[in-house]
Amino acid sequence: MNNKQAEILEFDKNHVWHPYTSMSKPLPSYLVKSAQGVYIYLASGEKVIDGMSSWWSVLHGYNHPELNQALIKQSEKFSHVMFGGLTHEPAVELAKNLIAMTPGGLNKVFLSDSGSVSVEVALKMAIQYWHSKDKPEKHKILTVKNGYHGDTFAAMSVCDPVNGMHQLFETVLMKNLFAPAPKIGFEQVWQADDALALAAMFEQHHHEIAAFIIEPIVQGAGGMRIYHPNYLKTCRALCDQYHVLMIADEIATGLGRTGKLFACEWADISPDIICLGKTLTGGYMTLAATLCTDEIANSISNGEAGCFMHGPTFMGNPLACAVANASLNILKRNEWQQQVANIEAIFKQQLLPLKTHPRVHNVRVLGAIGVVEATENVDMAEIQKRFVELGVWIRPFGKLIYVMPPFVIDIEQLTLLLKAISTVLNEDSCFIQQ
Ligand code: PMP
Repeated sequence: MNNKQAEILEFDKNHVWHPYTSMSKPLPSYLVKSAQGVYIYLASGEKVIDGMSSWWSVLHGYNHPELNQALIKQSEKFSHVMFGGLTHEPAVELAKNLIAMTPGGLNKVFLSDSGSVSVEVALKMAIQYWHSKDKPEKHKILTVKNGYHGDTFAAMSVCDPVNGMHQLFETVLMKNLFAPAPKIGFEQVWQADDALALAAMFEQHHHEIAAFIIEPIVQGAGGMRIYHPNYLKTCRALCDQYHVLMIADEIATGLGRTGKLFACEWADISPDIICLGKTLTGGYMTLAATLCTDEIANSISNGEAGCFMHGPTFMGNPLACAVANASLNILKRNEWQQQVANIEAIFKQQLLPLKTHPRVHNVRVLGAIGVVEATENVDMAEIQKRFVELGVWIRPFGKLIYVMPPFVIDIEQLTLLLKAISTVLNEDSCFIQQ
């Protein structure tokens, strides 16, 4: 590493916040020089295979010619214009794409900046909907424990109240309702009593509930738990029975990751509101979308305010929309289905056998998501260092070592990625001994 690079890292350490990282005792950050395909090239000389898709976002690999081209072409026309009173082709094309791809009935598209904001938008839509129906008392949100929906205030208020990392803010958060998390795993035998406590909460509180929010099939940052599709089906039925709007947070699961284009498809259901983000631009830049039904959009628009009360500065950013369209066009070629099936097959072959490892509590696989739950917490600095030495980029949290690589990863790269996990499992220094 040269002097300039060392200086960048030093300044970073002293002045730049990183996600969930201490500023007084920061964990090391690795300086990135470039990225190509599934590889991230570090200034220190290593090239690492990205097992995280940069937190569920990069689908088709880094530095993709079609996505680059879409950005360049759009930047030569205009990079941004306000969305109030103006519109443009990239946003309209994106809305068309999303309406066509998402589960039926979601015809109205609200574009925003990030996943958390798209959740804020969804929650505001639900509350404003019931207000417009003359039922302002329906303003609470029901959800399940172990969920994760983002870091902004309303989103925090529906994250798991214990492991959601947000207890500090408890006093100022909206007081929402939490049912037990689904327990029956994706491939286990379904038992209807898994949703009994949830049903009881609907019965008891429906008169005050605006919406029920859930991550379909995979609970991500709240524990990487993969639950049974019948649970999700039951959620839809309860929402219908008790007149509660259903919000599907597909920010992590949407656009192919679970083996279906949307995880809701595993239960053959359509929500009233869906949140999309992360991979919407193929991991190129930040963009999110909240889609809702005609009924919700029309009721809000005919209500007291006459419009939906939200309008971010960078709403419908043309660069982000153009690159999102290019990414969705790649997806529409449908190679993702084979890519995800191939990744899942290798996960099953190479990750599932780790179940018998003495340091492994459980292994879970669905589509292009592979999770190894260890029996001990990882030592973050040490395990990260070892992964880089082994040529991979994996960022575990707590006891969870998980991977969701870009769809374009090949068998050899995937094997190297998974081999790194089995290697570190044998290294005491990578774990915090209890
Ligand atoms: N919902 C889910 C399911 C997520 O996984 C995340 C991001 N981890 C968010 C919401 C928040 O998205 P963002 O980080 O883009 O605000």
